[in-house]
Amino acid sequence: MSYRFFHAQPPVDAQFTLAGDQAHHAINVMRYQVGDQIVIFDGRGTEHDAEIELLSKKQLTARLLGTRTLDRSLARRVTIAASLPKGDRQKFLIEKLVELGVDQLLPLATTRSVAEVKPKVIARIEKQVIEASKQCGRNFLMQVAPPISVSQLCNTGCEDLAAGMEDAVKLLAHPYDSQSLSEISLAPDQPVAIAVGPEGGFTDDEVARLVDDGWQPISFGPTILRIETAAIAAATIFGIGNTGN
Ligand code: SAM
Repeated sequence: MSYRFFHAQPPVDAQFTLAGDQAHHAINVMRYQVGDQIVIFDGRGTEHDAEIELLSKKQLTARLLGTRTLDRSLARRVTIAASLPKGDRQKFLIEKLVELGVDQLLPLATTRSVAEVKPKVIARIEKQVIEASKQCGRNFLMQVAPPISVSQLCNTGCEDLAAGMEDAVKLLAHPYDSQSLSEISLAPDQPVAIAVGPEGGFTDDEVARLVDDGWQPISFGPTILRIETAAIAAATIFGIGNTGN
């Protein structure tokens, strides 16, 4: 696979102009030259082959060679609603959820959450989503919603903020008094949403609220997993591990 760059807009007069991070990566990191071929994807399912025609210090122009629609999504739509860890652990989590084909991330603001998910954090996560998608070949970007509370997740906020979750089986990752994995059986195209709590765990009230709203408690095993391990396990078990892809 040729190296991939993200550009949301379609070509203009059969040309792409890359600037900012994407151009910096191509020019200064990959050290591409005029005549080299690259792949440009738009994050909505279309990718283009292109040949570099012009390079300056901060911008490159590439000529369109061909276009295709290529969907590398899983058969099932997977949503992870997680209280995010901080720093490198957050970055690691985002990268792995993108690689594993998660469609949508809902940052959960719970009573015991430690990372405040401000708009600048969402902007940083969106950049990390693009970088991970470049690397892993994803053509549809993982959607990142604004942070939502447990109440919003349980109420109409769900429909407003989490389009596509309406028919999802809702699972609550919870180490205690829960069903085991073997008790859950889903059709390969059944959408699923999994809620993962903060380091301190969901409060009893939050668990009760989620259960009332139809979230089924499920345990991934007898040990206590950190947030990112639990979220990655959920994405693996219910995503690539259980969809027939
Ligand atoms: N002391 C916390 C508690 O009592 O819940 C541990 C929280 S754990 C570090 C973070 C989150 O990962 C939990 O809220 C839960 O959603 C998920 N999790 C951890 N271990 C799990 C397991 N064995 N099965 C299912 N979910 C798990």
